[in-house]
Amino acid sequence: MKAYDYLVVGAGLFGAVFAREAALRGKKIKVIEKRDHIAGNIYTHEVDGIQVHQYGAHIFHTSDKQIWDYVNQFATFNRYTNSPV
Ligand SMILES: Cc1cc2nc3c(=O)[nH]c(=O)nc-3n(C[C@H](O)[C@H](O)[C@H](O)COP(=O)(O)OP(=O)(O)OC[C@H]3O[C@@H](n4cnc5c(N)ncnc54)[C@H](O)[C@@H]3O)c2cc1C
Repeated sequence: MKAYDYLVVGAGLFGAVFAREAALRGKKIKVIEKRDHIAGNIYTHEVDGIQVHQYGAHIFHTSDKQIWDYVNQFATFNRYTNSPV
């Protein structure tokens, strides 16, 4: 008997979403991550009440309601409009 259906290398946006969706479909998943946190390059941590984007600023863009509803299950987003000069 196999121990896992999938080995996911990295718990970034892709690996975490893939692992969750596969697990919801009955697959057995092993996720390995070399950093000491999940979320990959979109990782944030709070400093004095401010969410600091450790690997550089990230803005979530989508015009797809299904994707927007999906991600809002897991996080609260700040309202932000990017206005580069
Ligand atoms: C500075 C910056 C700004 C960005 N801004 C935006 C933005 O505004 N909007 C936007 O949509 N996108 C932005 N992006 C792109 C966005 O970060 C990526 O598209 C997204 O995070 C990719 O997710 P991922 O899961 O594919 O990869 P990653 O987030 O890179 O996750 C991969 C994970 O795999 C782990 N890993 C790698 N190799 C191994 C290994 N051998 N063993 C174990 N673990 C491993 C890593 O530690 C990491 O946690 C930006 C990227 C950067 C760098």
